[in-house]
Amino acid sequence: MSMRIGYGWDSHAFKPGVPLVIGGLNIQHHSGLAGHSDGDVLLHCITDALLGAVSAGDIGTFFPPSDARWKNAASSIFLKTALEEVATAGYRIVNVDTVLILMAPKIVPIAGDIRASVAELLQIKPGDVGIKAKTPEGLTQDGTVVAHCTVLLESIDAGTELERMAATADIDDSMQTEMDSVVKSLVGDKPLGTGLERKRPTFDTDDIT
Ligand code: MG
Repeated sequence: MSMRIGYGWDSHAFKPGVPLVIGGLNIQHHSGLAGHSDGDVLLHCITDALLGAVSAGDIGTFFPPSDARWKNAASSIFLKTALEEVATAGYRIVNVDTVLILMAPKIVPIAGDIRASVAELLQIKPGDVGIKAKTPEGLTQDGTVVAHCTVLLESIDAGTELERMAATADIDDSMQTEMDSVVKSLVGDKPLGTGLERKRPTFDTDDIT
């Protein structure tokens, strides 16, 4: 089994009159976050961390600023693409840890809700998601939300998957067929991990999302 880490960072400015969405959760506040998409600063930095962990570029690589399709888009779309890249590379998430830096609103009362939302989007347990918040003491960024994120991935081991399936069911012909399908989906015609070697087109990676 191999492991990889990823790191992401993003910032968005507050903008009056738009919904505030953090971690896929709609939050009551007088301002939302400006952005080409829904401005979900937390999902953007998690997306970058996931893509970085499998060396697949960044959010701007997949969703270039010039593409009007992503205007007002839900950022869960970006996250879903990153999850697909992680799976294609032969990895899965172990855990995610995040820090939000903002003056308001207070995150502590809603951290559990944000954690549940992020966990659901990432298809992992809430206990594998860290949501922390800091106020920007000494920094002149009261009108901005900054997010940092680290992720840890582990390689999907075909043998482990088969052991798990064998442990939970009697193996008959249909199960054997399913197991063969799992092995093929995991391994394909090449050894695990070759997805990391795939080449990605290079775009201007300015992050307008
Ligand atoms: Mg962003």
